Amino acid sequence: MTSGSSAATSRVGWGFDAHRLAGEPPLKLGGVVVSETDGVEATSDGDVAAHAVTDAVMGACVLGDLGEHFPSDDPEMAGADSMALLRETVAMAGAAGWQVSHADVTIVAEHVRVSPHRMAIAAGLADALRVDPTVVSVKATTTDGLGFIGSGEGIAAVAVVTVASVSR
Ligand SMILES: [Zn+2]
Repeated sequence: MTSGSSAATSRVGWGFDAHRLAGEPPLKLGGVVVSETDGVEATSDGDVAAHAVTDAVMGACVLGDLGEHFPSDDPEMAGADSMALLRETVAMAGAAGWQVSHADVTIVAEHVRVSPHRMAIAAGLADALRVDPTVVSVKATTTDGLGFIGSGEGIAAVAVVTVASVSR
C-alpha cells in the first residue's frame, strides 16, 4: 500500500465454541447471567459467546487462537472471567493495528432462553470490543432437538467479527 493512503483494510474473522451443560450455575453469555439453574463444564467461566467472539477477533487479526493465548491447563485460567480475556484480546488486536468494526454472534441452545438477554449481551460485548452496541448483532437459535445441543447436553456459539486497520 502507498504511504499516505487513507484506505483502511478490513478483514473478517470467524469463531466457534461449545461447552457441556453440566457445571456449576450460573450460565453466562457475553458476561450476562442468562440462567441461574444451568452451568457449563469449563476451566474458565465457560462463556461460549465471549469465547467465540474472542476467537473471531484473533482470527481476523491472525493472532492465533484462544487456547494458545489462554490455555485451559494454565492454573490462572481457573474460573477466569472470559469477558476480561476478550478485553485483553481487543487490546492485543489494537497493538497489532486493528480495531473492531462489527460483530455478529449466534448462540445455539435448546432450552436456555437467550432472547430476553440479547440487548444486554450485545451491550456487554460492544463495551469489550470498544464499539457502539448498534454494530453488535446477537442472535439465538436452536437445533430443533437435534444433536448434543438439542438433547440439552451442550451449548454453542458462532461469531463473525470484522476489523479495520487503524491508520497510524
Ligand atoms: Zn469456551
